[in-house]
Amino acid sequence: MNWEIVIGLETHAQLSTQSKMFSGASTAFGAAPNTQASAVDIALPGVLPVANKDAVERAIRFGLAVGGENAINRRSVFARKNYFYPDLPKGYQISQYELPIVKGGEIRILTKSGEKAVRLTRAHLEEDAGKSLHEAFRDSSGIDLNRAGVPLLEIVSEPDMRSAEEAVAYAKTLHSLVRWIGICDGNMQEGSFRCDANVSVRRPGGPLGTRAEIKNLNSFRFLEHAIEFEAKRQIDILDDGGKIVQETRLYDADRDETRAMRTKEEAHDYRYFPDPDLSPLEVSEKWMGEIKAKLPELPEAKRKRYQIEYALSLYDASLLTDTREKAEYFELVCRSLEGPAPKTVANWITGELSALLNDRGIDFSQLLISGKAFAKLLDRIKDGTISANVAKEILHGMANGEGDADAIIAKRGLKQISDAGAIEKIVDQVIAANPKQVEDYRAGKEKAFNSLVGQVMKATQGKANPAQVNEILKRKLAG
Ligand code: ADP
Ligand code: MG
Repeated sequence: MNWEIVIGLETHAQLSTQSKMFSGASTAFGAAPNTQASAVDIALPGVLPVANKDAVERAIRFGLAVGGENAINRRSVFARKNYFYPDLPKGYQISQYELPIVKGGEIRILTKSGEKAVRLTRAHLEEDAGKSLHEAFRDSSGIDLNRAGVPLLEIVSEPDMRSAEEAVAYAKTLHSLVRWIGICDGNMQEGSFRCDANVSVRRPGGPLGTRAEIKNLNSFRFLEHAIEFEAKRQIDILDDGGKIVQETRLYDADRDETRAMRTKEEAHDYRYFPDPDLSPLEVSEKWMGEIKAKLPELPEAKRKRYQIEYALSLYDASLLTDTREKAEYFELVCRSLEGPAPKTVANWITGELSALLNDRGIDFSQLLISGKAFAKLLDRIKDGTISANVAKEILHGMANGEGDADAIIAKRGLKQISDAGAIEKIVDQVIAANPKQVEDYRAGKEKAFNSLVGQVMKATQGKANPAQVNEILKRKLAG
């Protein structure tokens, strides 16, 4: 019998504020241990937390982006989540429980099977814990409290995903969104964006099965593998007549498997109660309005607009809105364009230009080619000055800072040969020098034609107008 996989994700996004959630200590990554732990972070007696307005603003920005004003609780409450662990000096984590700052909303994902909305349950503010460091060479363990108190937004989805592919699409879309609205730097190696995957299996349409929660997945690949392994593990147990235990599991990337960590705590184990040191968080209509007014156009709105305004497919529109920088670059190029269609711009940006950025390990902010200069390059293909192939070469020259398209064309003598007489002369020479290919072509071998085109292009160092070469060659061979 077949099983359906059910996944819900809890994602921790570190909010990119200068200082911590409840203290003035710096959040900068990579400082020497405990140099960024204030009296509040190490929980000295008598200290009081003060909520960071910037962090709250970022949480509101997120809520507005996923669900509009309805997603913002005008009043939310900080609560203490009590548990003991060496990296938690207070003995409790300040989080939000019954009244989170964000409720509801959705993330729209795109997979091979199409578009789908994943509902969000909530998103709440909380503080991170410290970090235990085990140093084998000193035979000792230490605790670094630099992370303690760093602001996090925990984003909880409904159990709406049905495959590892959907879960990865959701995580990627969310990752792109938090960077887009500038609330999180998305650095997964540094732990700024990490997911817990809740996985269960059930009979299609039946009640939800018992879930296992796989903690702290900090790469999309790990997320995918962990879910695939875990779903298979559960299916094997159920097929053998066994039962799933609700538990917390760890993903071991080296072995590509999940392992039991502890049985799952229930909410009542944490003895949640409102934090008496923090007053409830009130969000005024005025403040929310100001935050809303500053929001950039969101990826989804851009995707819709690109399909209408630029006649792009949903797929192209999605590739372009992968990051805000890429989308803004695309629009900039389109605005400066004289000849080509937006679809051509989209192909160049998602193809050749993305590959170039990838190869060089840089992003749009480091690209030396302005939107205007890029538009001019594409205009030169359209007006027949250069071929698309030559344009690729010029693009690399531009990225090296060699000047604009016209300068490189002039300097390297790359102007396309569109003079029919000149091309005819070369075609005649190539035909005369290759009787075998000519005969093959006339005997119906298409390949021979391509080889002849190749020879003409070679003789002109790639500068002959390819459309003209084709046409002239065909005419001469027919005659
Ligand atoms: P907790 O906070 O204890 O982990 P929640 O009930 O808040 O538990 O759920 C956390 C996450 O688990 C949510 O993302 C939710 O969608 C998901 N989830 C709940 N039940 C299931 C299930 N049976 N299978 C898969 N995911 C589930
Ligand atoms: Mg959980």
